[in-house]
Amino acid sequence: MLNAGRASDGLRLRAALDASAYPVYVSGMVKAVFPGSFDPPTFGHLNIIERARTIFERVLVVVAVNSEKHYLFSAEERLAFMRELVAPWPNVEVHMCDTLIVEFARLHECRVLLRGVRSVQDFSYEFELSILNKGVGPEIETFFMPTDQKFFVLRSSAIKELSSLGGDVSGMVPPVIARAMERFRIKKGS
Ligand code: ADP
Repeated sequence: MLNAGRASDGLRLRAALDASAYPVYVSGMVKAVFPGSFDPPTFGHLNIIERARTIFERVLVVVAVNSEKHYLFSAEERLAFMRELVAPWPNVEVHMCDTLIVEFARLHECRVLLRGVRSVQDFSYEFELSILNKGVGPEIETFFMPTDQKFFVLRSSAIKELSSLGGDVSGMVPPVIARAMERFRIKKGS
């Protein structure tokens, strides 16, 4: 353990940090990437973005496009939903990405990869993902933000299932999403 009271340890640590090969993009003004499927966006996602935007200079929400995954809403729809939902927040922007998220972060000079965690199960998955991302992008740091307790049960997959069975999802997603899910359900049922 580093004894904080010993000046020589502090100096050695300082030297090690200064010698770091990792680029520092803008000291004190850190941009974060918040990637996800957002299929659909929920109040849980928005809560993470709203809190993060008061900590980071900019938050780049990234709608992931993965040809292996089956989505309820197209990438364009998810992008449009997110753009509409974050419109009131000037330091939040929304992008789409079909490459490695670390490559996206590098391209946009973002040091932080932000992920929300609801549970221990989420954490164990997210922790492994963070190790994989660290392997491909050692200069990018994953930050975990625990969900607000009001939102810990919100999960896009469960919300989709509930909606497909005619359940009321209005307390879980913004009105624009609830309406789109309802339209989808009616279209599918007809
Ligand atoms: P992915 O397919 O990448 O997991 P999601 O849209 O499911 O995409 O989630 C995107 C991010 O938001 C993840 O970090 C996930 O843990 C987080 N997240 C999802 N739902 C919530 C919630 N209710 N509260 C906090 N974070 C959440």
